[in-house]
Amino acid sequence: MKTLFEISKPGRKAYTLPPKDVSGELLESLPSRFKRKRPLRLPEVSEVDAVRYWTNLSQRNFHIEKGFYPLGSCTMKYNPKINEETAALPGFTEIHPLQPVSTVQGALELMYELEQIMVEITGLPVVSFQPVAGAHGETTGLMLARAYFESKGENRGTVLVPDSSHGTNPASTTLSGFKSEKISSNERGLVNIDELEKKMDENVAVLMLTNPNTLGLFESEIKRIDEIVHKKGGLLYLDGANLNALLGIIKPGNEGFDIVHLNLHKTFSTPHGGGGPGGGGLAVRADIEPFLPVPIVKKRDTGYYLDYDYPQSIGKIHSFYGNFNVLVKAYTYLKMLGCKGLKRVSENAIINANYLKESLKDDFELPYKQLAMHEFVLSGSKQKKLGVKTLDIAKRLLDLGFHAPTVYFPLIVPEALMIEPTETESKDTLDAFIAAMKKIAEEAVNEPEKLKNAPVTTPVRRLDEINAARMLKVKHSWDKE
Ligand SMILES: *Cc1c(COP(=O)(O)O)cnc(C)c1O
Repeated sequence: MKTLFEISKPGRKAYTLPPKDVSGELLESLPSRFKRKRPLRLPEVSEVDAVRYWTNLSQRNFHIEKGFYPLGSCTMKYNPKINEETAALPGFTEIHPLQPVSTVQGALELMYELEQIMVEITGLPVVSFQPVAGAHGETTGLMLARAYFESKGENRGTVLVPDSSHGTNPASTTLSGFKSEKISSNERGLVNIDELEKKMDENVAVLMLTNPNTLGLFESEIKRIDEIVHKKGGLLYLDGANLNALLGIIKPGNEGFDIVHLNLHKTFSTPHGGGGPGGGGLAVRADIEPFLPVPIVKKRDTGYYLDYDYPQSIGKIHSFYGNFNVLVKAYTYLKMLGCKGLKRVSENAIINANYLKESLKDDFELPYKQLAMHEFVLSGSKQKKLGVKTLDIAKRLLDLGFHAPTVYFPLIVPEALMIEPTETESKDTLDAFIAAMKKIAEEAVNEPEKLKNAPVTTPVRRLDEINAARMLKVKHSWDKE
């Protein structure tokens, strides 16, 4: 497939503008240091060429609108189209964050109401939507923890991170200047309470817990964990990226969590996975509020306003108020579902995961057998003995029309296949996936070459993933000149 630059022909265009009605003087008055030395080189294509280019490109890739995408931990649910309609309303797209607040009351009202809904969902009293990703929320949450302890004159340097947590947790810990210390899992895949008790001391600032953890298991000893951490004055942090399992069932604030980050783009439906705009709201307990990034949207008699009066704030962690369009989508999603609908989201996410788990446990090893939450982890170790790797299984799924699950994660399961179906899939789709997985299990025995050669139906075969990530080659039209 040719790139847009390759199909470009001078003079082709995809726009029609009315004749210019300003004189050239305005442009002439611009100091020359602000002017381009040569025209910006953009591809020149007609509208139909541009549309076909992007449509073809989208078909060469896998996405949720093309097929089932059970990528564990990523919550690749279908994103309702009505979200796009509301986010595209001119009242939202044609405003600027520097406008006087009196002229953007609707946008502020939406943010305020979304805050109130998240307060209800998390059971924590204050929310900021400034972080724009889960990992960004984690880093911000840890910065809040640091500010909180500093304000009390305490110098705590360690963050405890269970080995079943998401990989971003130890990374955020290091990035925010803490030392991360691992807590191992017990034989049931849950936090080892004895080890936690030993390691939890006055030097520990935070325990970062992913619940359900990345094995898809609910940390049932949460009350005990809450006690152990708070007895030593620490803070309990919930990696709430997996909130898809908890909506309307559990409020993290009631379970003893002090800081929670949310992944709006996962649980509350914004297309994600390509590095596009995300939302990582942060909910905190009342005595952590003074440190939040500013501003916070508030309401008074005269209307909504942005409150910057937080002298102890950690400052800004993103321009303006985060990714506003993601907030519009999350708000639409929540309003469409309502309280009952939200609870059904989580119930169905859990039912779908357990249906797949029970249907596949005879064909693949299931290391943790208890009830799963929104996702579960299989191991390809049986197939490994036949010379077939988990990577081969993942690649073969592409040939059979499915996106692969998350593989080789969590690290504590060898040959891991982490499967998260989400609630938006029908039983027919789940059954088709089960049939594909069973076919693969059978091929591993009878036709292993089929797995080792996969994929054969995709636009590219197996890629050099390391070099693709580390040695990015971006073509410019002027490279040839
Ligand atoms: C996805 C995820 C994150 C990171 O979120 P990003 O938006 O990708 O930064 C953190 N923790 C868990 C459990 C996740 O699933």
